[in-house]
Amino acid sequence: MGKIKRKELLAKEFWAPKSAAICILCKREIPKNQMEAHHLIPKSKGGEHTEYLHSICHRQIHALFTETELAVHFNTPEALIADPEIAKFIAWIKTKPIEFNKRSRKSDRVK
Ligand SMILES: [Zn+2]
Ligand SMILES: [Zn+2]
Repeated sequence: MGKIKRKELLAKEFWAPKSAAICILCKREIPKNQMEAHHLIPKSKGGEHTEYLHSICHRQIHALFTETELAVHFNTPEALIADPEIAKFIAWIKTKPIEFNKRSRKSDRVK
């Protein structure tokens, strides 16, 4: 069991960027297990460019905006940060540790 886990980790590291990624929302370092890629223009709208952010920051974007809104109004990090709801979220998440992720708490315990 442990051996399989380690192999998975190695594969992940190979895929992940060498240097630490910085979240486009909260501008803090992203631990590897919280790293997610966001399409600034949703894939369904033909977007290809991705930026890294925390899993929880990523979820917040998709909780607030539809794919059309993302494609039309929020297709740059600057536009996202300028939104009052996102600004409020950033101020809040900055008070939490960089590993903070509301939903992962339960699954961490199961592991
Ligand atoms: Zn973040
Ligand atoms: Zn996304």
